[in-house]
Parts: sequence; structure tokens; C-alpha cells
Amino acid sequence: MSEKSLLGRIAAWLVLAVLVIGGGAGAWQITSRLLDRTDGLLRYVRVDSWTVNAAQQELQWFLNLIARHAAGDPAADPAALRSRAARLKSTLRLLTSAAPQSDLFTYADVAETAESVLVDLEKVDRALAGLPREAGSPSLLATVDRLLSPHAEELTALAGSIAHTRLQLQDRDIGTMIGLVGLNRIMLLVFFGVAGCFTLLLSVEAVAARRAESEARAGERRMRHMAEHDSLTDLANRDQFHAVMADRLADPGRSTALLLVDIDGFNEINDVFGHEEGDAALVEVGKSLRALARGSELVARLGGDEFALLLNGDAGTALTRAKAVTELFAAPIETASRSHRLAASIGVAMAPIDGQTLDALLKAADLALYAAKARGHGQIARFEAAIGDAFIRRKTIEAALETGAFVAGLTLVFQPQVELATGRLVGAEALMRYVDPALGAIRPDKFVAIAEQTGHITALDQHILEAACREALTWRGALAEGVIAVNLSPIEFLRGDVVASVQDVLARTGLPPHRLELEITEGVLVEDAQAVRSVLERFRALGIEIAIDDFGTGYSSLAYLSDLPVDKLKLDRAFLSDIETDHGRRVIVRGAMTMAHEMGLRTIAEGIETESHRRLLEAFGCHQGQGYLFSPGLPSADFQHFAERHRSTALEPCA
Ligand code: C2E
Ligand code: CA
Ligand code: CA
Repeated sequence: MSEKSLLGRIAAWLVLAVLVIGGGAGAWQITSRLLDRTDGLLRYVRVDSWTVNAAQQELQWFLNLIARHAAGDPAADPAALRSRAARLKSTLRLLTSAAPQSDLFTYADVAETAESVLVDLEKVDRALAGLPREAGSPSLLATVDRLLSPHAEELTALAGSIAHTRLQLQDRDIGTMIGLVGLNRIMLLVFFGVAGCFTLLLSVEAVAARRAESEARAGERRMRHMAEHDSLTDLANRDQFHAVMADRLADPGRSTALLLVDIDGFNEINDVFGHEEGDAALVEVGKSLRALARGSELVARLGGDEFALLLNGDAGTALTRAKAVTELFAAPIETASRSHRLAASIGVAMAPIDGQTLDALLKAADLALYAAKARGHGQIARFEAAIGDAFIRRKTIEAALETGAFVAGLTLVFQPQVELATGRLVGAEALMRYVDPALGAIRPDKFVAIAEQTGHITALDQHILEAACREALTWRGALAEGVIAVNLSPIEFLRGDVVASVQDVLARTGLPPHRLELEITEGVLVEDAQAVRSVLERFRALGIEIAIDDFGTGYSSLAYLSDLPVDKLKLDRAFLSDIETDHGRRVIVRGAMTMAHEMGLRTIAEGIETESHRRLLEAFGCHQGQGYLFSPGLPSADFQHFAERHRSTALEPCA
């Protein structure tokens, strides 16, 4: 309430209070006056005519007794006379003492008359004192008669006059009283009327004020809701989410799970069906997510297609709940006009274990989400330190690729390839290594995918190809005609001018094409059959051999491969892991080898780690082998030493 309206309200209540007090005091005053009048009337009704009449009666009896005394009545002896005189006196004194106490008692003659009767009575008294005992004294009669008879008439007249005055007074007082009662009634009417109006006005004003106040409060609530909620989904917004999270983190004894939910491929809805449809889908997703929250748990939209859930419970419960979120997307999301098949990636971080501050926890959940997304659609990842490491590594690699520092840190190792039947060293596969100034040596499975995603793989492959070709030209002795195998990324292979750039490298370095073997993964072959065939044919025309890497992990069939201009199959190392114990594996590998040979393809097995691997593959007719049994990838100088030493041992029988 404003200060002004508060002052107005106080003033109004003050006026009402003055009215109530003033009106009450007025009514009280009038009522007291009425009571006074009533009291006055009662008072002189009590005193006046009855007392005067009594005095007149007494005086008459006294005069009668005097007369009987004068006539010699023995009963009217002086004692009886004195006693009568005494009673007469006390009655008269009553009249003199009954002085008017009320201002309404105006008949003052009573006291005066009684006074004069008393004076004359004194004289009579004195005359009585000298009387003989027996009755009969005519002189006394004359004296008394002279003195008191006029008073008897006076009192009679007075009584009459009083009665008359009393009637007059009564009439006047009753008139006054009726007037006062009327006035009181009018005053009360006015007072109640004004007070009633005032009360009504104040009540109306109070109701209006209450309504205005509740409207203001509702407005405030609406404003606060808007400030704390996302306008599209009505879920908590980022600000409220941060506030609630900070609140929860303030209690370190409480376990809280943070789930960051990102809708996979959501942008496609926006792109294909427009933003309105995208918004409608987000609203539906928001509704479904909200339905999962219990009690004090919070669901927020952080922006775009990213949502967050703050849940209670331990890590186990959090993963179960995350699973429930991914299961929400098992059914299509239905908007008014369409239905969309979506999936959600979820990063899970636990407070306080994974982060004790808002930033730390958010970062942990973010990293987990990032890891989940890296695994594909609809995946859940719980934060772990390794995820942080992976993230840092990825960021470092991305930055190095961006600045060109990566190529500078790139080196090659060479892994020997051996003819299984003779043990002869036939060449090597070039494998790249990156040595980061901060993180040290990093293997390609950690950076090839990043280089492919960021489009830097072409530069790396070109760099490696050229370095590998130059290395092969340094080989001497038995290796002087050795073959260098170089990996080509599928992205690089499908690039339009890959053949030209390989040809360019051969021309620059001077390596004969038959000494270069390109390894491409089986998966590439199923991409665009026509384009693949054309590239393969051009490589064959140049005299460059093509090996199908990781054979057995892709989807191609041997029949399909036989139709393509490829030279060599490189059996994936996964087939060797339990080949000694797994009979089924052995049957498959032997079958693949037999068919490959029948189709005129040469074969090499990678991942040969044990002598029994080597023996088995040799028995299956596999031509070549590569693996830790012979050597891991070696830096240039080490590889040369290996080649030197191998020459002598290779001559010995290998079986
Ligand atoms: P890949 O072409 O299949 O290379 C063979 C991988 O198996 C190498 O890992 C090698 O070190 C490893 N290996 C060799 N012998 C054994 C063995 O006996 N046991 C086991 N367990 N592993 C063995 P590396 O060097 O980490 O390379 C990983 C992958 O990175 C390669 O798989 C290849 O796909 C890619 N890569 C390596 N160098 C290049 C390159 O220059 N260009 C491109 N595009 N990709 C490359
Ligand atoms: Ca390879
Ligand atoms: Ca391989």
C-alpha cells in the first residue's frame, strides 16, 4: 500500500473515531440531562405540596387544640399544646431544610413562609410557657389566633400555589424532556447515519484496497513466474535452474543428480518442418520430461533443445532415471500436426562427488553429455575423470589441428609385414603418431576421428603419404624393393581428386607405384559403388595395390569384393583374439582364406601376437602377417635395425 493511501485511511478512521466519540458523548450528555430533569421532578414532587399540606394540617390541629384549651378541655392541657407545637415546628423545619437542591426547584416561598411561621410559633411557645396547668385561657386563644391564623391561610394559599406551580413546572419539564428526547433521537439518527455512511465508505474503500492489493500480488506472481520460467515450455529457465542448484549444493550432505538432456538431431525438425513445428515438438518433450519429476525435483529448459533435470538420490538411481528419459523417446513425439522420432543423449553428474560448485557440476555434466553424444544417438554417460581427460585431449587436438601445430608434431612408425611361409620381411605399414608438447604421444585412434570430423584428415594423410614414400626410398638390401603400406581415410578416399594427389606424391618423391600399397577400410566399399569402382580402377591403372583393411568387420561379401579391382585382403585382428579356442572362428577364417585365394586375392593377417597365431594362419594358407609377434610399429631408425637383424633370422626355418 502506498504511503499516501495509508495516510488517507488513517485520516478517515480518525474522523470515524471522532464521530463515534462525539456522538456517544452528545447522547450521553442528553441522557444525563434527561435523568437530571426526572430527578428534579421527583424531588419536588416529594417535598412540595405534601410537606406544605402537612404543615398546614399540623398548624390547623394546633389551632384546634388551642381552641379546645381555651374552652377548658382537660385533654388540651399545656403539655399537649407543647407537644403539638413541637411537631408543628419539626414539620416547618423540614420545609426550611428542604431548600431547593435542584435548579428546577424554583418555589422559594416555602422556606420563607415556614421561617415566618416558626418566628411566630416561638412567640406562641413563650406564651405557652406561662400557662397554668389546667385548661381554659381565653387570652392565649386571642394571642395565638392573632399570631398564627394568618399563617394558616398563608400555608393553604401556598399549598394551592405550589400545586399550581408544580403542574406548571411538570408541564414545562415534560415539554423540555419531550424536546430533549426528540433532539436525542435526531442526534442519534444523524450520528448513526453519518457513522453508517462513513463505515460503508470505509468498507467499500477497504474492499477496493484489498482487491487492488490482491491484483498487485497476482501481477507480481505473474512477473516472478515469467522471470523464472521458459516462455515456450513453461519449465524452469536457466536462471531458476541455477538458483535451485546453488541452493542444493549449499547442503553438502545431500546427494543430487544433474541430468543434461540434449535432443539428437533436433535441428532437422526446424530445418525440414519449420521453427513452429520445432517449438511444438519442444513443448511436447517438455511435458514428457516434467511428468518424470517427483516432489522437489526440477526440470528446466536451458535453451534450444537442451534440458536439465535435478533429481534426488544416488548415482544408481540417477542412471535408472536417465534410462527412463531415453525410454520416453522410444515412442514418437506427437505434435498437433505430425509425429517425430527423436532420441536424447544424456550426461549425468552427481553432486557432491563430481562437483561441489555450480560451475564444476555443470561442467562435469556437460563433459558427460559430450561423451554420450560421441557414442551415438540416445546414449547415457556418467561423468568420470577419464571423460574430462578425453575432453581436454580432444580440445588440445582440435586446437593443434586448427593452428597447424599438429602436422609439426606428427611422426611415423613402421610395423613390419612378414611372409608367413618364409619369414621374409616384405615391407611395413606406416602408422602415424602425434606427440603433443603437453600430453605426450597420442595414438591415432584418439585423433583420426577428430581429424576426419574437422576436415583436417586430408592434410594429415597427404603428409603421411609423402613421408612414408620418402622413408621407403631409404630402405636398402633385402628391403630395397619392399612395399610400404599407407592407410587412407575413407573421407580421403572418397574425395574426388584422391588419385591425382597420390600420383602427385609419387611423382614428387620418385617412389615406383608398385612399392606403394593403399589400405582402405571395407566400409568404404559399400558407399557409392560406381565412384568406388572408378577410383579403384584408376589406382590399378597406376600400378598401385589396394588392400582391404579390417576385413570381416564391414558388410561386404567376398562375392562383391571379387568383382572389384582390389589386390589384397587384410584380415581384422579381432578374428585372432580367440582363434586357438574358438572352433567357429577357425572355420570362418579358413573359409575366408580359401575363398580369397580362389578369387586371386592375396591375404595378410594383422594382430599376430603369438607363435600359435602364426602357425594357424600359415596353415590356413594366409600369405603374410603383421603383429607384435614380429614387432610393434617402430621409428625409422629402429625399423632399419629390425630389418638388418631380421635378414639373418629370416633365413632360419619358421615352422
Ligand atoms: P589399422 O590400420 O588397423 O592399424 C593397425 C593397428 O593395430 C595399429 O594401431 C597397430 O599398432 C595395431 N597393432 C599392430 N599389431 C598389433 C598386435 O599384434 N596386436 C594388437 N592388439 N594391435 C596391433 P595404431 O597405430 O594405433 O593405429 C590405429 C588405427 O589408426 C589404424 O588401424 C588406422 O585405421 C589408423 N591410422 C594409423 N595411421 C594412419 C594414417 O597414417 N592415416 C590414416 N588415415 N589412418 C591411420
Ligand atoms: Ca591399416
Ligand atoms: Ca586394420
